[in-house]
Amino acid sequence: MKPALLPYIAAIAAALVYWVARRVLRRPFRLHPSGLLALIPAGIAYLAFFAFRQPPFAGMPIPPGYFIMALLGLFCLSSVLCEVEPKLTPSIPRRPEPDQTQPKETHRLHEIRLKTGIQRTPEFERKGLATHAVNIGTKCGHDCSYCSTGAILRMHASFKLAGENPFAFGYALVDPTTPERVARDARTLHQPGLIQLCTTVDAWAPEAQQFNLGRRCLEAILAEPGWTVRILTKNAAVARDFDLIERYKERVLVGLSLTAPPDKTAAIRSVEPHASTIAERMEVMVKAHRMGLRTYGMYCPLLPGIADSTQAIQELIGFGVNCGVEEVFVEPVNARGPGLKSTERALRDAGFSDEADTIAGIRRQPEWSAYVVRLLSNVQEALRRFNALEKLRFLLYPSRLTAKEMEWIRNHGEGVRWLGKEKDHDAVANGSFIGESI
Ligand code: SF4
Repeated sequence: MKPALLPYIAAIAAALVYWVARRVLRRPFRLHPSGLLALIPAGIAYLAFFAFRQPPFAGMPIPPGYFIMALLGLFCLSSVLCEVEPKLTPSIPRRPEPDQTQPKETHRLHEIRLKTGIQRTPEFERKGLATHAVNIGTKCGHDCSYCSTGAILRMHASFKLAGENPFAFGYALVDPTTPERVARDARTLHQPGLIQLCTTVDAWAPEAQQFNLGRRCLEAILAEPGWTVRILTKNAAVARDFDLIERYKERVLVGLSLTAPPDKTAAIRSVEPHASTIAERMEVMVKAHRMGLRTYGMYCPLLPGIADSTQAIQELIGFGVNCGVEEVFVEPVNARGPGLKSTERALRDAGFSDEADTIAGIRRQPEWSAYVVRLLSNVQEALRRFNALEKLRFLLYPSRLTAKEMEWIRNHGEGVRWLGKEKDHDAVANGSFIGESI
């Protein structure tokens, strides 16, 4: 082979490796800037080679075409190396805080008795999350400040019986007998479907753990054929049940809500005080992926000023894609009810006044509307970058959008799933929905 052909062959081979690697990694064709660093020593070595006329190049002039081709090849190769590592090992930040999966001693625990086991859920069916729901209580001990369960269940008799305010914090209402009713319904309901565990509380929250409710409900459901389960939790304790899930791995989807990148742990801690840290949740997602369990991404809510920046969303979405998520659910924070006020207060009390101001801002319709558009466009961009836009389920109620933002979303609606009243959906589809006036 003629030595003069070597740079061409090397460059073509490197570009080929790069192209194949990107196909395998399912990433868009993008040269990584870090690859430039590798060019500096390579370029110097290449020039020196010609300058000293070493064999096999002795006597040859320096051909600029060779030089450019070789540099391009090296750039491609080093770009692949920069991208491969995070694909194989999704990066998990250091765990900055102690394990949060244990019950809090200061919490009041009320045992209640519910009537339902497995229920149909038209709301979650519209969201594309599940056809049925199982809930192990009516008040979750994670105490997230933005939680809408209190507003949804405020008329439920269990609050009155326990003498608790549905909008207050510091307690949990749990029914330890839930798995018995779930087992009964799983046996007797005629049309099995996809069950979300849970929709209004968390089956792995500290108080639910005391009765092993997550695992017992899973066992009750999976003992009957036909049912599949979507686990949604903010607690790393779910990993203790991976042995069970592994046995039914085709019938269980694992999802841990990721509500901010790990560098926002302190701020998120103030609004999700008893959930596992973001790092712990990420660790469990990685473990699920490595065990070959089915995973999905749940990014809800991504709060403005904490988790809606381009960088934060790229990081979160990239992490989910690397964990093999089958779908990506994103929902803006609910602007109704007392959740936003509680979140603002929690952030301000913890010293995050800028973030608190941003949260206060989106109580106004124009700011909320602008936040939704920013969130949607950042999420779409991140998923496009990872060639995974088809996985997006952006859950959105149109009723609080301004006409301007409504128009933008109608023209950039990839992945948007409209919620709320049927008549609003039709209006959005035919363009007659103009949003609320300001
Ligand atoms: S984990 Fe979910 S259900 Fe529990 S407090 Fe937080 S938002 Fe509410």
